[in-house]
Amino acid sequence: MEIKLVLGDITRLTDVDAIVNAANNSLLGGGGVDGAIHRAAGPELLEECRTLNGCATGEAKTTKAYNLPCRYVIHTVGPIWHGGSSNEASLLADCYRNSLIEAQKNGARRVAFPSISTGVYGYPVDKAAEVAIKTVKDVLRSMSSSFDLIEWCLFDNRTYNAYETVLKG
Ligand code: ADP
Repeated sequence: MEIKLVLGDITRLTDVDAIVNAANNSLLGGGGVDGAIHRAAGPELLEECRTLNGCATGEAKTTKAYNLPCRYVIHTVGPIWHGGSSNEASLLADCYRNSLIEAQKNGARRVAFPSISTGVYGYPVDKAAEVAIKTVKDVLRSMSSSFDLIEWCLFDNRTYNAYETVLKG
């Protein structure tokens, strides 16, 4: 079981079975990584998302990946940062935990995450990296036999460095 960080575009990954989308409650597409995933997957992804009736913050739902090189997209909805006293950390932890549960259900043993909530949703990246890595390590204590690779695909150096600091620390 390997945990790694890569710098780049999550839609280009060829070494995973599932990528996680930082979606919004509607699941009907948006900007950032969500927009990139819908563009790369093609319009059938939106068609399938329309059947899911949205997704609550912290929950996760799985679709096929259509034109993406992986098999599944796991859509999760991160919390919007409101200063840190609105349950943001536990909702962000829920995203990682529920995404891994979805991956396990679908037999996806190699999974890539983006930096959930740290774009438009404004979660400070250092704090988000702590929650992300701690939660994944916690979940893997009971589910490690279900996975071969968990990676974060980070889009810019500042984000990469924040996750690297936590992972190496
Ligand atoms: P949120 O609404 O959860 O904050 P965003 O998509 O706005 O989601 O941002 C989450 C993170 O995803 C940010 O670090 C952003 O730079 C990054 N990101 C944007 N496009 C991509 C992509 N194609 N691959 C990986 N990460 C991406």
